[in-house]
Amino acid sequence: MRRPGSIVILTGAGISAESGVDTFRDKGGIWSRVKLEDVATPEVFSRDSAMVHAFYNARRAGLAAIEPNAAHHALAKLERVHDGAVTLVTQNIDDLHERAGSRNIVHMHGELTKAFCATCGAHLLADGDLSADLVCSACGHAGGMRPDVVWFGEIPYHMDDIYKRLLAADLFVSIGTSGAVYPAAGFVAEARAAGIRTLELNLEPSDGTPLFDEARHGKASVLVPAFVTEIRAGI
Ligand code: NAD
Repeated sequence: MRRPGSIVILTGAGISAESGVDTFRDKGGIWSRVKLEDVATPEVFSRDSAMVHAFYNARRAGLAAIEPNAAHHALAKLERVHDGAVTLVTQNIDDLHERAGSRNIVHMHGELTKAFCATCGAHLLADGDLSADLVCSACGHAGGMRPDVVWFGEIPYHMDDIYKRLLAADLFVSIGTSGAVYPAAGFVAEARAAGIRTLELNLEPSDGTPLFDEARHGKASVLVPAFVTEIRAGI
């Protein structure tokens, strides 16, 4: 592939699937057992914060049992060796990109390893369980702490920054995402309209596949390292 200057890469649950993290919509995934309206909305949190905290506490604790896979490592390497900017925009709330060594990461749906204080607006490290009566270390108030994740019906983080980087890119790559959750699902159309080359790497055709200049289907652990090799070789 002709070597691009700046690259924006969108990742979704599929890149973490081979690390043992359930995807969102695939059969057997976490969301086929748990209904999203039962945990991932602000309304449910205000009704039953203990249950929502328990769900995210279990997922946070589960991070210790998983490791980045070849796809995460390949993207970290790309960031290290590529001449232009490489921005990772992830919908994932896990920390596998960080642990693989990527640094230029935008977590548009928040992070499991952080807590958000709804009282003072602080984003804080969450290295253990969160609970309804936790005191915020920034403002000292109890009762406002929640997982720092974006729930359905809420606006994703850093959207202005993401669009700025996307529209300045030479190449947009979407990896392991079903193209069903907006606004991320709309990035490919924005990129195309701006004349930016677009590539999809996904296990199977997604809702957005027809919109991409090129789509390759298979496992992220195979497709992503091959893509990085291609970019480095400038072929
Ligand atoms: P999704 O489940 O809707 O789609 C996952 C996509 O990945 C599917 O198209 C599937 O075919 C593909 N896939 C599955 N295994 C793959 C593999 N080995 N290699 C390549 N592709 C593979 O997930 P999404 O599009 O990211 O949905 C968005 C929402 O899911 C976000 O809100 C995100 O926060 C949330 N989510 C995050 C995590 C996480 O943090 N790891 C996990 C589940 C869901």
